[in-house]
Amino acid sequence: MDMGTATHEVVVVGSGPAGLATAAELKRRGVEVLVLERGDRLGAAWSGRYDGLRFNTSRWWSALPGAPFPKEFGWFPTRDQYVGYLEDYAARHDLTVRTGVEVRRLDPSGAGWTLRLSNDGADRLAAAHVVVATGALNLPSVPDWASGTPYRGSIVHASSYRNPDPYRDRRVLVVGPGSSGLEIARQLAEGGVAQVLVAVRTPPNLLPRVKGGLPFDLPVPLFFSLPVAMVDAMLRKVQRATWGDLSPYGLPPSPEGTLSGLLARGAGTAIVDEETVQAVREGRIQVVAGVERLDETGAVLTDGTRQEIDDVVLATGYRTGLEPIVGHLDVLGERGLPLVTDGGEALPGLRFVGYVYRPGLTGYVGKLARRAALEIARTRRRAVPVPA
Ligand SMILES: Cc1cc2nc3c(=O)[nH]c(=O)nc-3n(C[C@H](O)[C@H](O)[C@H](O)COP(=O)(O)OP(=O)(O)OC[C@H]3O[C@@H](n4cnc5c(N)ncnc54)[C@H](O)[C@@H]3O)c2cc1C
Repeated sequence: MDMGTATHEVVVVGSGPAGLATAAELKRRGVEVLVLERGDRLGAAWSGRYDGLRFNTSRWWSALPGAPFPKEFGWFPTRDQYVGYLEDYAARHDLTVRTGVEVRRLDPSGAGWTLRLSNDGADRLAAAHVVVATGALNLPSVPDWASGTPYRGSIVHASSYRNPDPYRDRRVLVVGPGSSGLEIARQLAEGGVAQVLVAVRTPPNLLPRVKGGLPFDLPVPLFFSLPVAMVDAMLRKVQRATWGDLSPYGLPPSPEGTLSGLLARGAGTAIVDEETVQAVREGRIQVVAGVERLDETGAVLTDGTRQEIDDVVLATGYRTGLEPIVGHLDVLGERGLPLVTDGGEALPGLRFVGYVYRPGLTGYVGKLARRAALEIARTRRRAVPVPA
């Protein structure tokens, strides 16, 4: 692919909801925009996730502005319904998405930006404006102990887990009790796996997906308007009333409040169904201590015990992976998150959309996208050709 001298008014990097919403908002304002996507199809982050995945936030807060989910999605769309939704959204707004193109690095150039693409970064594009929307949960976070280990069994990150089939009759350790970790543990427990262990270093805040027949996230906007300590205390009471005391099963109350953890680290909460907690109570999912290290055939845990296991699934979270792309531009802060996350300019002509921790982020990114698009439409500048 030779894109050596192509110039664009706006290039959006990433075709998840954040990137597509930004492009749609730009098009609505008559701005020419190209979306680049690393994956082989639009919305690749979602299409690549595990079988049986459905939303843990409800239709109320998860749809993009002006594009409500179809009724048949129910409260919580499935992975495949959501990928179809993104495809429809892109088609309806007549967006140009070029797939199989990874942006490797951005550099200021003249009045705009040079984007170095794919493989060795030899292919380039130029744009007056770049909106980076590669996702806050872009690349797997892998703990140190999982690399260079003598362990002979399989280790996969949750991002590569698909379904329980390869694990039938085996002993599997799922590491991390977030929404994905507990959901995968439940799939395994229901999918013919001999033993399912979940390694827990810090107990999570367990919140129900549904309560009283309604999605539990209905009051989310209210949560964000109240003092954090008040919301934490309220949600602690809800947990106690919903699940009772799960300490005997290895899940004592979390030391950290739900909203505190979310705002600080985007972590610490697991949204679960009653069936998952029931599997814990019945011992079909066994909670064990965190992992210290792996030996050839098992895991040595932080409480000094050891478990013999066949496979490890790392539900240990994600990172932005923005460092190689923009790390040299002084625009990143803690945990590789951009310093400017509200859709405003991080540097002239450079914006980030989607790098906040918030339930219903698939919908909220629409607000950030609108701000970015509005400002770009106001300050349109011409791209300069990439020097040969
Ligand atoms: C298992 C799981 C379940 C989730 N469930 C929910 C939920 O129920 N509700 C909710 O609100 N959120 C949920 N999330 C969070 C969810 O991922 C985000 O809310 C949403 O997808 C963020 O949209 P985004 O467009 O910012 O990023 P993404 O959807 O991650 O899209 C980013 C896109 O950029 C592409 N890309 C990355 N790097 C490059 C590059 N260098 N060059 C070109 N393209 C690139 C990726 O392939 C991807 O297609 C979940 C996350 C996970 C992991």
